Amino acid sequence: MTADSGHAPPTTPSADASKGTIRVLQLYPRDMNIYGDWGNALVLQQRLKWHGYTPELLEYNVGDEFPDDVDLIVGGGGQDSGQLVIQDDLQSRAETLRGLAEDDTPMLLICGTYQLFGRFFKTRSGSVIPGIGVLDVETHGTDERLIGNVKVTTTEFGEVLGYENHSGQTTLGPGVAPLGTVPKGTGNNSKDGQEGARYRNIVASYLHGSLLPKNPAIADYLIRTAVERKYGSFTPGGPDDRYAVLAREHAIRRPR
Ligand code: GLN
Repeated sequence: MTADSGHAPPTTPSADASKGTIRVLQLYPRDMNIYGDWGNALVLQQRLKWHGYTPELLEYNVGDEFPDDVDLIVGGGGQDSGQLVIQDDLQSRAETLRGLAEDDTPMLLICGTYQLFGRFFKTRSGSVIPGIGVLDVETHGTDERLIGNVKVTTTEFGEVLGYENHSGQTTLGPGVAPLGTVPKGTGNNSKDGQEGARYRNIVASYLHGSLLPKNPAIADYLIRTAVERKYGSFTPGGPDDRYAVLAREHAIRRPR
């Protein structure tokens, strides 16, 4: 497949032409980064450049010093074992992360990180991993693994496409809204046909793939929100969506 449509890709602004710097923090990439979730940070980096801003990619792993002046946070999925590894450190950062969330920092929380930003995740084997309670959700592991391609219908971002693989089933409380409904796939749980959660500027979702290469509307929402929060207003640039369009066309045809 080719993405060559005959025109040159948009250029990246030189540092002196930058409209500003956005600091993107990836949470626990060492232990929470499966099915290519790191790709979400790379998409934010590239799209920030296309919009004329300078991205700074930061990582936070267990035991690190928490960086200052974070503008946007992304967290990926993980095995239950990875979630057990980060649980104590995450609790030690709970107040900081809750403060950032309540202060409207945009965040993308995928699968295992989504679960641990909720109240708790009780794994299949019965361990209860406490969450940090940013999101009014709780998750119970079951013997049924929810696996496959997913299509989500959302009012904010149109059709959202991705891939799920989790044992945890998440139930939303009244403090959050669902990201959307699921015409294909399972999403939060095998009962209510909903996927993901929205709270303040947080987008939480079970979808890997990674999510953002196929869903630039979500990437641009996170970028716009981060820029507006820091600089007051956002002027978009000219992102090159050719590969995103092709990836969406491909993903939408995939069987469950
Ligand atoms: N370990 C969690 C579960 O199985 C999260 C999985 C994931 O992040 N893909 O539900």
